[in-house]
Amino acid sequence: MSLANLEHQARTELESCSDEAALRAWHNKYFGKQGEVLLALKKVGSVPPEERRSYGQEANRVKEALTEAHDAALAKVKERALAQSLNAAAVDVTLPGRPLTRGRWHIANRILRDIAAIFSDLGFQIYRSREVEDDFTNFELLNMPPHHPARDMWDTFHTTVPGVLLRTHTSPGQIHVMREHCPEPIRVILPGMCYRYETITTRSEIMFHQVEGLAVGARVTMADLKGTIVAFARRMFGEERQVRIRSSYFPFTEPSIEVDMDCIVCAGKGCSLCKRSGWLEIMGAGMVHPVVLQNGGYDPAKFSGFAFGMGPQRITMLKYAIDDIRQFWTNDLRFLRQF
Ligand SMILES: [Zn+2]
Repeated sequence: MSLANLEHQARTELESCSDEAALRAWHNKYFGKQGEVLLALKKVGSVPPEERRSYGQEANRVKEALTEAHDAALAKVKERALAQSLNAAAVDVTLPGRPLTRGRWHIANRILRDIAAIFSDLGFQIYRSREVEDDFTNFELLNMPPHHPARDMWDTFHTTVPGVLLRTHTSPGQIHVMREHCPEPIRVILPGMCYRYETITTRSEIMFHQVEGLAVGARVTMADLKGTIVAFARRMFGEERQVRIRSSYFPFTEPSIEVDMDCIVCAGKGCSLCKRSGWLEIMGAGMVHPVVLQNGGYDPAKFSGFAFGMGPQRITMLKYAIDDIRQFWTNDLRFLRQF
């Protein structure tokens, strides 16, 4: 085959190569160990001497021209393959994005934070106290000796360790905070979980939050207590709220009071929420009992104090008209997403 024919044939075949595999085969055919271009170059020895020079030059030109043509074809094929793969994996920027769901505070925690914010504006600090208590602090130091009838008010979860229990109220925190800060004046709230061994109903759970408040100082009076409660009720439920105080009994306060607020639904006219009374019970309170002050390290002759306790779940139920306390801990997102 003449060099001209060889070049023509090689170029024609090159043009029909559409992918890298075909190009590899082509390259092998012309430039492999037995490739036709290399064979043509080797033939220079068998050419008559007078033609040898021009044959050699022409053979080299054909070799270089075909190499160049091959490289160009290879580049083109690679480019096309890249474009194809980009197309295949294309991102459709017009598709709507996947929604990112944002978390939020559980309603129980949010109310705790709301309550804490109101009391911190009133100068109260937050004091965290343990949930696992000893019998002595949970009852006795709060003026409830072992056979005190008030102990019946708290059905208790006892642990397997004698005398160790889950606190039934946040009040033992009063003893801890007093002993820690005595004889300095105190103004704290004690929020946290409490546990009672009770039948679970729409109105009572075995675990629930309480927020206790405690103020101890040289001249703390019932008027301070009342002012604090009224300020809280109005910040929490609206400026127009009225507060009513009834006498009550708790072993750790003397005198003890129960605090009612005019109904947020009917404003005192009477409805189903307030059971036609026009009033809603929001907390228990009183002046700290002298025995409790003493147990906390304060001399009742020089110091006085007030304390109050409320159930944030009950406050939340009033505020949002929730009719079942069990909703707070069942993790039902349909409930939780409403807040
Ligand atoms: Zn009402």
